[in-house]
Amino acid sequence: MHNDLVAALDIGGTKIAGALVDGSGRILVRAQRPTPAREDGETVMRAVQAVLGELAASPLWLHTTAVGIGSAGPVDASAGTVSPVNIPGWRGFPLVDQVRAAVGGLPVELVGDGVAITAAEHWQGAARGYDDALCMVVSTGVGGGLVLGGKLHPGPTGNAGHIGHISVDLDGDLCPCGGRGCVERIASGPNIARRAVETGWRPGPDGDTSAAAVAAAATAGDPVAVASFERAAQALAAGIAATATLVEIHIAVIGGGVAGAGDVLFTPLRRALRDYATLSFVQDLVVAPARTGTDAGLLGAAAAASPALRGETAASLNG
Ligand SMILES: [Zn+2]
Repeated sequence: MHNDLVAALDIGGTKIAGALVDGSGRILVRAQRPTPAREDGETVMRAVQAVLGELAASPLWLHTTAVGIGSAGPVDASAGTVSPVNIPGWRGFPLVDQVRAAVGGLPVELVGDGVAITAAEHWQGAARGYDDALCMVVSTGVGGGLVLGGKLHPGPTGNAGHIGHISVDLDGDLCPCGGRGCVERIASGPNIARRAVETGWRPGPDGDTSAAAVAAAATAGDPVAVASFERAAQALAAGIAATATLVEIHIAVIGGGVAGAGDVLFTPLRRALRDYATLSFVQDLVVAPARTGTDAGLLGAAAAASPALRGETAASLNG
């Protein structure tokens, strides 16, 4: 390995995080700003520039060889643009050009946040050592990404593996994406909570109707809360089984706030996978919780920018 560093940006609807990351996945310098998500696009970009400026003020900046960006989606990596649902001021925003201009022409790589988290889990987390993996984030939404043949597979626009919007319920509810019966429409935190309330679950005295509150109730044995998590687990299992059957993944890694529910999600998920992943080549699929935690977005953005950093050769990237 070498002493090269990558500058990573993790851009979401609430915060813009930045870091200088080394070849061991250590975060050496950090910077962060709140995302001015309700402001115009230029104001949001100034917050990105402030984060980059803080990183560039470090003496370690001299060793920075590339910039990796993981952004809330949709993104278009082929055009270098982003249109995050949670940042209305950015629609087709030329983020790659603007970041490149801000960093004096260093190479800039853009991926969606689901792909970034996949890169992080493959590099440093639960998918390490697996050549074929699906990594998912289950929280306010459901996102994901793929590692195929030992390499990150972002797809032409940086969105491949977006499992949250494949349909698992043909006659299911309409999804904000325009589809119907999407995994996200059933398994995201807000939808788990909504389903629990609609089917008769009532919160405790604090009135908390979040997915975390439903998870606590399920852990305590509340049958309606348990059923809502079982339904989410079923949707996730159907999506994972479909993915495994299509591209032969050997592990599905699940992170995000909803995964923090633990056994009330993972036990019915593994049970449901036995119902859906039935063919011989998918029966041994492993399901594991994510390990890279709150820095996953930054580590993944760094890994996506630098195949060398995550141990891939340039030849394998082009192969
Ligand atoms: Zn959808």
